[in-house]
Amino acid sequence: MNHKEFGDTVSFDAMYRTNRHAMNFIPFIAIDNHKRSVVVGSTLISHENAPNFTWVLQAFVKAHNSQPRFVITDQCLSMKEAIPDVLTESKHRLCPWYIMTKIPRERHASEVYTKTVFYDVQKEIHKALYFCGLHVNSEEGDIVQYVVAHKNCKMITKVSYQVTHNVVANTFNCQCNLFTRTGILCRDIQAAKSRYREIDIEKEASINEL
Ligand SMILES: [Zn+2]
Repeated sequence: MNHKEFGDTVSFDAMYRTNRHAMNFIPFIAIDNHKRSVVVGSTLISHENAPNFTWVLQAFVKAHNSQPRFVITDQCLSMKEAIPDVLTESKHRLCPWYIMTKIPRERHASEVYTKTVFYDVQKEIHKALYFCGLHVNSEEGDIVQYVVAHKNCKMITKVSYQVTHNVVANTFNCQCNLFTRTGILCRDIQAAKSRYREIDIEKEASINEL
């Protein structure tokens, strides 16, 4: 999927929120020249803050290799902060009514599609939590390399992928390329991200003990 095929406008729709896994689901919806909406990508973030949105937007630009001409969002302040930092070539419009009025008939189809994407994302999170083995392969400067093993129900490794985490830029790349191909964040990156958060929590805990 490539938003170039679908026109210039991408909305980051914060309407789909979920309490499961305490994550927020953010689909990227592109609007094509016939005013139809198409889901071109999606992600889950733990908190709606500016660094998380910055990460999402950077991943989006990386996956699509270009910036949309227009970005439409609701009045989320964190999003407002992150957009000009990453989408330097895009015009940002705060207009929830644009989506509501311009594409009402396609809304249902879009929701059905979004639900499918949502389950795919959930599947990756489930696999990351229960069927992935993660270990740090190397740590040099800002770059941490993880190896994530995909296990079956007997906990036998079927395949493994390398995830590269740039700690300073806060970017994750995975060999499996699922995000680039489908816009769905793979279990490998989910596993690496959760590990990174654990390390952070450990760090904070040890600092508090001092
Ligand atoms: Zn992957």
